[in-house]
Amino acid sequence: MAVFEGKSVLVLGGSRGIGAAIVRRFADDGTKVTFTYFGSQEAAEALADETGSTAVRTDSADRDAVIARVRDSGPLDILIVNSGFAIFGDALEQDPDEIDRLFRVNVHAPYHASVEAARTMPEGGRIVVIGSVNGDRMPLPGMASYALSKSALQGMARGLARDFGPRGITINIVQPGPIDTDANPADGPMNDLMHSFMAIKRHGRPEEVAGMAAWLAGPEASFVTGAMHTIDGAFGA
Ligand code: NDP
Repeated sequence: MAVFEGKSVLVLGGSRGIGAAIVRRFADDGTKVTFTYFGSQEAAEALADETGSTAVRTDSADRDAVIARVRDSGPLDILIVNSGFAIFGDALEQDPDEIDRLFRVNVHAPYHASVEAARTMPEGGRIVVIGSVNGDRMPLPGMASYALSKSALQGMARGLARDFGPRGITINIVQPGPIDTDANPADGPMNDLMHSFMAIKRHGRPEEVAGMAAWLAGPEASFVTGAMHTIDGAFGA
């Protein structure tokens, strides 16, 4: 299929995991994307070679670098913001600088990237941000900062949908449950506990999340905006 042929696409955080699956999905569907990475240069270069995409190093914690990257890649038809991470552990023991970095990557970057993209995005533009079911449900201790960051995306999508809707630009949040990536491997120590919350008792695959992101970025989703799309095996149900 060449659904995205001719489209200009930027994926923030595309070197590994869900982001890499999204890069591959766009390549399969007819477009070469530009994607960012930060720590994983080797993986990023290998993926760029594999898919014919362009890898560029940009730290999502650096607001001005993110804005410049979006501006330099524009005008964009599609922006995907995937970069994100979690910090686990006792909230009373955590380094506040590390927590602030999490907020910069998980919250500030999606906001500023979305606004910058919308400056030049044409009618029919699409913004898709990878949130988490933990924005709705946080059944475990030690992840409050992560849950906060993913809940914040919900308010962002609701508000920016109002700002961009009159121009035919949509913004949506994909909310995965446990997905088999380096960040949350399917053979990790917490798996039995995580699966106990779920109706489909397995980790999801990055390709399953990429499929939802591609649908939201595609022509069939033109009336879908300001909404959260959960893909979690009923973790949050
Ligand atoms: P991984 O750790 O496997 O991959 C994270 C990706 O984000 C990498 O490509 C990484 O690039 C990039 N990234 C992280 N920090 C930065 C940064 N500062 N600047 C640029 N890129 C960065 O994570 P997942 O694939 O599992 O997660 C992807 C998204 O999905 C995240 O937003 C996460 O919160 C969300 N999610 C994941 C779930 C899961 O169970 N896996 C569940 C729910 C949500 P690099 O390595 O080059 O730094």
